[in-house]
Amino acid sequence: MKLSQLGEFGFIERIRRSVSPGEGVNLGIGDDCAATTLPPEQLLLTTTDLLIEEIHFRRQWTDFRLLGRKSVAVNVSDIAAMGGTPRHLYLALGIPPELSVEGLDAFVAGFLEAATEYGAALAGGDTCRSAGPIVISVTAEGAVPEGELVRRSGARPGDAVYVSGTLGDSALALQLLAAGKTPDPLLARRHHDPTARIGLGRALAAAGIPSAMIDLSDGLVADLGHILSASGAGAQLHEGALPLSGPFRQALAEDPGGIKLALTGGEDYELLFTVPPEKAAALSPLADSLSIPLTCIGTVTPSDDGLVVKDRDGRPYRPGWGGYNHFARPE
Ligand code: ADP
Ligand code: MG
Repeated sequence: MKLSQLGEFGFIERIRRSVSPGEGVNLGIGDDCAATTLPPEQLLLTTTDLLIEEIHFRRQWTDFRLLGRKSVAVNVSDIAAMGGTPRHLYLALGIPPELSVEGLDAFVAGFLEAATEYGAALAGGDTCRSAGPIVISVTAEGAVPEGELVRRSGARPGDAVYVSGTLGDSALALQLLAAGKTPDPLLARRHHDPTARIGLGRALAAAGIPSAMIDLSDGLVADLGHILSASGAGAQLHEGALPLSGPFRQALAEDPGGIKLALTGGEDYELLFTVPPEKAAALSPLADSLSIPLTCIGTVTPSDDGLVVKDRDGRPYRPGWGGYNHFARPE
């Protein structure tokens, strides 16, 4: 079926019927505004992300259900990075008229599936026709207890730099797809169906462990750069300490230069955080209880030192800030 047969309001009604009532949603889809409430003494966190066809995804590589899941994950990942819990989601869509209703249904099903997994309710949105690409804008609202908010700005010299999970898998998958190859299933999943580290971010914040935290969307070097500039600090990273998956290591054995993907590749959606020395002992029981690998990859230094990476032979170099910049000119 074509969307033109269903119409804007038919489509919205279809979404409304698939949404189950959410905690804290007094009024959801169907009126001019949503009306929601937060638990007492919690701060409201709000974040928005755009996903634009040809910029963030290619229709030919995309399964619509996974695109729906990813639209939620990349958004709530920012809430994880502040130590919060996602509560409400808003979904604005620009849809080219030739898109099939079946594709849209799969997108909405994936979106709602992921929303349920993260404990967030779809409370509203907007639906328009696009004369060009598919445009997906998701706004997430979350809650964090007052006093537990974690910002980018608290890193101090002597703090350890930690990262969750593994690095570079998504960027490697993208590189393989662009070269017309089929990535290993683990790499493909990390690219098409990333997991936001909500439980970890919340647990770290509740235990008061991180002095600063960010989620990795632009790449390790760029996102660490955001923490360092907000904190007025430098850092030293160790290439040899970067946590890498099995398939990533295999690719690295063939091309040692591939380590650059772990340093600068985007879309890992892992958490990067700094830990003051007196909080270090609390970290490993927390990692064990969540079964998420947490790896120390370096140390925060005074700002004059900037960011220095030591290669596998211990030779220091400056990586530049790297990372994805939408308005940078091609080199
Ligand atoms: P208005 O013209 O007042 O902005 P709309 O007709 O755009 O209202 O939307 C009607 C209702 O449907 C609102 O509650 C809105 O939040 C919801 N809605 C519209 N599009 C979507 C969507 N893509 N996902 C979820 N809710 C949506
Ligand atoms: Mg509207």
